[in-house]
Amino acid sequence: MTIKTPGLDTRVTHCGRAPAQHFGAVNTPVYRASTILFPNLAALEAKESARLRYGRRGTPTTHALEDAICALEGSDRALVAPSGVNAISTVLMAFAEPGAHFLVTDSSYGPTRKFCEHTLRKFGIETTYYDPTLGAGIESLIRPETRLIWMESPGSQTFEVQDVAAITEAARRHGITTVIDNTWSGGYFFQPITQGVDISIQAGTKYISGHSDLMLGTIACQAPVYERLRETYLRFGVCVGADDAYLALRGLRTMGVRMRHHHSSGIRVANWLAEQPEVLQVLHPALPSHPGHALWKQYFTGASGLFGFVMKPVDHDALARMFDGFTLFGMGSSWGGFESLIVPSNPAVYRTATTWAPGGQTVRLHIGLEDPEDLIDELRKGLDRLRP
Ligand SMILES: *Cc1c(COP(=O)(O)O)cnc(C)c1O
Repeated sequence: MTIKTPGLDTRVTHCGRAPAQHFGAVNTPVYRASTILFPNLAALEAKESARLRYGRRGTPTTHALEDAICALEGSDRALVAPSGVNAISTVLMAFAEPGAHFLVTDSSYGPTRKFCEHTLRKFGIETTYYDPTLGAGIESLIRPETRLIWMESPGSQTFEVQDVAAITEAARRHGITTVIDNTWSGGYFFQPITQGVDISIQAGTKYISGHSDLMLGTIACQAPVYERLRETYLRFGVCVGADDAYLALRGLRTMGVRMRHHHSSGIRVANWLAEQPEVLQVLHPALPSHPGHALWKQYFTGASGLFGFVMKPVDHDALARMFDGFTLFGMGSSWGGFESLIVPSNPAVYRTATTWAPGGQTVRLHIGLEDPEDLIDELRKGLDRLRP
């Protein structure tokens, strides 16, 4: 008898839970532990092979979260980290060696670039940034010393969609490890590991948490790279507190319903914005007008609530009038929670392989779980405030 792989909603509902092992409790409880005691000398001497041996090396709560991440991302193994940035730096450090060369998308998350420029460079690791849209053309940038290709799709702030399979195939031909920052999809709308990517990291802070109350990073990976990642992870003493792991598991349970709401409301607001005279361009890959739309359809089963738009030129006072009057849209870092956010962004200042000059102010929106009509109403009033 063949057992069909359970659907994604079934997986996020049941993954990382074993009630029979916890007095029937539906959720894996919070295990706070540093010391783990062994019943006798033989067990103590055999502890190297025990899954539970010391709090820093994981507890039943963090192990449950790792198992859940594997189920979500379709990976062999997973590691959890105290922030998305820590997941990023752990992966980059694991592949760092003197003289190595990394290829990183020009659309990557700011702190990813900073780690390459400020930390890796000090140790003689060189990074080349590449145009996120070059696809198979990545091959011409590969050098004998290239060790890692870093993707992020859609790109931070600018939302270019990458041809992940084409880049991964080129990397494979040269024995190069591939990594993707999969935060935008939450791992719910895209499983890069199934496309041949070796490592998929996320800021679990965003959609896995879903409630703006948690810092977390996840590293999903295939077996061949696991030991290397784990070694770096252990050397740096990376670990996640049991309460945080519990919150992440709790967030994960409702991911499906949340993501579907983010998807439909985000597209609704994006379509509305595209028709407004104050808006030059909407940066949402699910809109057919987006240059990455065909690739988005190829790789993603849906869109999260994060996208951007470019405004026609306005002066700073007008922009402040628009931004300062919002009540439903908060202004602040991060996204992926239940609530809507708006921030201006300026990708032009850090890009090096490509230029970002869309002709007006770029704005990033996170569409939360509110009624989309209320959000549209609030945006309409905000755009009206541009006129004195
Ligand atoms: C927020 C974010 C991160 C970093 O996550 P933290 O948990 O804030 O450290 C990494 N990648 C992307 C794409 C992000 O948006």
